[in-house]
Amino acid sequence: MDIARELVAKEKLKPLFEDPLKLPFGRNFTDHMFTMEYVPASGWIRPCIKPYGPLALDPSANVFHYSQEVFEGQKAYKSAPGEVLMFRPRENARRLNRSLRRMCMPEIAENDILEAECELLKVERRWVPAVKGASLYIRPTVIGTEAALGIKPSSEYLFYIILSPVGPYFKEGFNPVSLWVSDTYSRAGSGGTGEAKTGGNYAGSLLATLEATKKGYSQVLWLDAGEHRYVEEVGAMNIFFVIDNKLVTPALSGTILQGITRKSVMELAPELGIAVEERRIAIDEVVAGIASGRVSEVFGAGTAAVISPVGKIAYRGQDYVVDNNRTGPWAQKFFDTLTGIQYGELADTRGWVYVVG
Ligand SMILES: *Cc1c(COP(=O)(O)O)cnc(C)c1O
Repeated sequence: MDIARELVAKEKLKPLFEDPLKLPFGRNFTDHMFTMEYVPASGWIRPCIKPYGPLALDPSANVFHYSQEVFEGQKAYKSAPGEVLMFRPRENARRLNRSLRRMCMPEIAENDILEAECELLKVERRWVPAVKGASLYIRPTVIGTEAALGIKPSSEYLFYIILSPVGPYFKEGFNPVSLWVSDTYSRAGSGGTGEAKTGGNYAGSLLATLEATKKGYSQVLWLDAGEHRYVEEVGAMNIFFVIDNKLVTPALSGTILQGITRKSVMELAPELGIAVEERRIAIDEVVAGIASGRVSEVFGAGTAAVISPVGKIAYRGQDYVVDNNRTGPWAQKFFDTLTGIQYGELADTRGWVYVVG
């Protein structure tokens, strides 16, 4: 790609945050963003790195009414010698394209997505925190921009990438989260858009999450939409259980987002010494297993927190406390291994680490 550059003058660059470990999630943004437009006659055109700032869109733009929107969530890390690293970014590019196909939006060449991310990261290198635990969150987004209220796929699109320096999800070590199981709301139904990373899935999940937080739980554990019986995932994370010393996770059903952290945990498991099983998991099995001690650990897996131990699950008015609300050894092991690879401390034997040149 021939990326145009319109860079902020040196004296006008924003000051960096003093303590990256205290950075809140997604509230601060870097100096620049990447943008590229799609028009039917020419495809994706005008790749550009320009100052971060508001977009000008027609109020009738498709995204505001019919939600043609997909996004990704990934991170750049700084290794001790100062290299900028990404973790399995091709997986994110592939998933972005799968989401785009599902939402009737034009795909973007995988190499162009990667090039856009790398070139933006090179410009914003100083924003990648040089502290383990902190990172630069990458948010690629595609929206339908055609100004028309007719219900049909937009003919024009905007692809943009913004960057946000973030601190660790858990400020003082792990903090097991509590989950509330909804047996009335659902996140995604069969044949719907649950596998796509699209904003509408989140819009529809906010009310249940609000109810969960009002009751004192931090997130919703979603069950299948058909029977409200089988576990699917948590908010923005996939879920794992250690049942009889085996790692068990819900099989991909078409309604579960295919997490790259999930995939990585499953690929690491045999090497770390635990067998892994993908299958349907009934919520009844989970709560009975927690009560009997057969379920020894529960944890979420996703880019933001990496691994998030679950200390409590509420189902039908009863709280089930997992292993005295402690962080289990497997959650710790997966967290240490994944972050070790991501920050370049552990050998990358699988080609998961991508060095930004
Ligand atoms: C992004 C996301 C995940 C986690 O995916 P990762 O690639 O591991 O970050 C899980 N569930 C949902 C609904 C998501 O949007």
